[in-house]
Amino acid sequence: MVEPLPHVREIPPYVPGKPPAPRPGVTVFKLSSNENPYPPLPGVVEAAERAVAQMNRYPDMGCADLYDALAERLGFPVEQIAAATGSVALIYHLLTAYCGPGDEVVHAWRSFEAYPIAVTAAGATGVTVPVTEDGRHDLPAMRAAITERTRVLMLCTPNNPTGPALRHSEVAELVASVPEHVLVVLDEAYHEFVRMDDALDAPALLRRHPNVVLFRTLSKAYGLAGLRVGYAVAAPEVAGALRAVSLPFGVSAVAQAAAVASLAAEDELMKRVEALVAERDRVVAGIADAGWSVPEPQGNFVWFATGERTPAFVAAAEEAGLTVRPFAGEGVRVTIGEPEANDRLVALLRDL
Ligand SMILES: *Cc1c(COP(=O)(O)O)cnc(C)c1O
Repeated sequence: MVEPLPHVREIPPYVPGKPPAPRPGVTVFKLSSNENPYPPLPGVVEAAERAVAQMNRYPDMGCADLYDALAERLGFPVEQIAAATGSVALIYHLLTAYCGPGDEVVHAWRSFEAYPIAVTAAGATGVTVPVTEDGRHDLPAMRAAITERTRVLMLCTPNNPTGPALRHSEVAELVASVPEHVLVVLDEAYHEFVRMDDALDAPALLRRHPNVVLFRTLSKAYGLAGLRVGYAVAAPEVAGALRAVSLPFGVSAVAQAAAVASLAAEDELMKRVEALVAERDRVVAGIADAGWSVPEPQGNFVWFATGERTPAFVAAAEEAGLTVRPFAGEGVRVTIGEPEANDRLVALLRDL
């Protein structure tokens, strides 16, 4: 048999959030994938349908309308933007373009589970730095982990699955101290949900430091997880490299049309995000009331460090009609969902 390259066998599996098992007489909620509980934004289904009717044609490989919409919204020229099939794809593209065997990628752990998968797939070496007790990136330790061989420093803010977000001042200080041969990736998949003082202004950092790269996605706040659209904002050379290694025609015409329509529905988007943030606040109050403590959630999810009691928590949630995302031996991530789902979560915490 022809064998794949040795590192291919080392790629850890991606564990997707489970779909809920149907239960007679009970409405079950999927709180396992940080999805948006709202339907697509106004006008999005119609725009997607118009594109569906053209499926005999290849999509616009240049994603011209999408790039224009993003450029206008972000205040960066099109040359500084690279779209891809979700920001997970951007992680792969970045590592493909910048890392080879022996190169190191520093990232926090526990953090986004796609990082070790993508790093291993690229043949690079992951250097993980444990998050602190309260689920935060340990930035001094991450800085200390940078060596001559480091090509990429990944920062996940808010951190999936633990929840806290980085402050602007601490990231600015870190970026200023990082050698220029290191790309600093700010993975802001949950950016729209952040409500804190000294919140990260990643575009401002990029304007000062060409080795900063922002990753954002339409999967979470915008509710387009099923269509796969994410984008990077970076120096023109970096954005160009990300585009160069991406698969031709990756972002489908349907996804491009839906993304453009979603970006145009900003007002409704903000209303929904505010409602989800209010639900998050309500859940946080309920958690404290029930005597639990969790790391500060700044995304659309909450982390429970249940350790060895994780299976019991998951079983009790399942019993209450809530499908959550366990991380064996570590904890459980629960997405902020519909008000009824959030009510059930709070009730469950009181009982446990
Ligand atoms: C969900 C998520 C992404 C991106 O998801 P895509 O659907 O591929 O855009 C990226 N980073 C983190 C930390 C996430 O949680």
